[in-house]
Amino acid sequence: MALTCDDSTFDGDSFPNLIITIDGPAGTGKSSVGRALANRIGLEFLDTGAMYRAATALALDQGVDITDGPAVARLAADADLHFVWAADPPTLLAHQKPYVTRLRDSDVTSAVSAVASLREVRDVLARKQMLIGRQHPRLVSEGRDQGSVVFPDADVKIYLDASARVRAARRVAQLAEMGVQVNLDDIEREQIARDDADANRPVGPLVCPADAVRVDTSRIEFDDVVDELERVVRTQLAARVNRGT
Ligand code: C5P
Repeated sequence: MALTCDDSTFDGDSFPNLIITIDGPAGTGKSSVGRALANRIGLEFLDTGAMYRAATALALDQGVDITDGPAVARLAADADLHFVWAADPPTLLAHQKPYVTRLRDSDVTSAVSAVASLREVRDVLARKQMLIGRQHPRLVSEGRDQGSVVFPDADVKIYLDASARVRAARRVAQLAEMGVQVNLDDIEREQIARDDADANRPVGPLVCPADAVRVDTSRIEFDDVVDELERVVRTQLAARVNRGT
């Protein structure tokens, strides 16, 4: 799709390298919004949370201590985590097998922040993500540290936020669609605890990068959020073209 602005017209394809990062707490819609944005402007989409969930599921399923950084990092490295890019969203494979529904199970969700706080695990996964960025240089990458650590030179950085209640309600609705009934207060508590752990760990914490555009989605519907992000991307790229950088 052509990206246009007032005083210049250019195509998304004119950017052979175009990395857009979307960071933010749980339940802000990063994945669904990121995927929709990627489809609109013809980029690929990377869900880095799936990689941390996979490392967690591997450890839980193989009885590996989830506080043992080197052991969990070895599991993640040996599983040869990679994505099938032809699928939408790309399917994560571990040991050459699709790893999808297990990643959303509640034991994985409860343990993932602890695993994501392990330096050795973050090193392995951040290196994989950087490699993916080189192999798929037209990418929307979603997570907690994408604009701050993994792609500090990203072309456009977005930070999505929303009130805790709204984020919890969205997750409840998402789970209900999958046939899972949960309590709103429980989900809100769980998300707040996870965000707290993610924001306060010493390595790769959840932060809003100084050069990111912050978008609060509490009162905006899905399509309007995607419109707003597309506008941010168009405006920033247009400004760059106009500056000649
Ligand atoms: O995005 P999602 O909820 O699937 O992420 C699950 C968990 O993975 C987060 O709560 C966080 O602990 C971890 N994560 C991370 N860094 C990323 C992506 C996810 O620490 N880039």
